[in-house]
Amino acid sequence: MGETSTSVRCGKCGQELSEPTSLQPEERCPCPSCGSTSRNIAVSITETVVVRSKLGMKGSHTDSRKPFIEVVSGGDLHRKSGRWMKLERVIDREKDQYKEKVTNPQTGEIVHRCEELLSEHRGHGSARKRT
Ligand SMILES: [Zn+2]
Repeated sequence: MGETSTSVRCGKCGQELSEPTSLQPEERCPCPSCGSTSRNIAVSITETVVVRSKLGMKGSHTDSRKPFIEVVSGGDLHRKSGRWMKLERVIDREKDQYKEKVTNPQTGEIVHRCEELLSEHRGHGSARKRT
């Protein structure tokens, strides 16, 4: 959910006023700077986006439905150790490349690294579904 904030400013000179937005025009005090009772009420909504584990990026050519490049970067739960690892995966269909790197975010140690031709990767054992 976003955060909503409202601000009341003088409609004439723009001076920020600490007036409730619900105040009726006849209840308003004249602006301390210019004496005007016209008001400008602004509502701003701040959206906070929280990315929890994975961040994905896909690029597509407008004429094809299949993305030509896929990038995955983020946390990946390493089943063997039960730890969160940093995963970076790039699938580049244009260059026929498949790259995968899993590092331990605490030590920087490379747990798993894979770099091969995408066409070869497909038929290969590591492409099977992980259990
Ligand atoms: Zn004013």
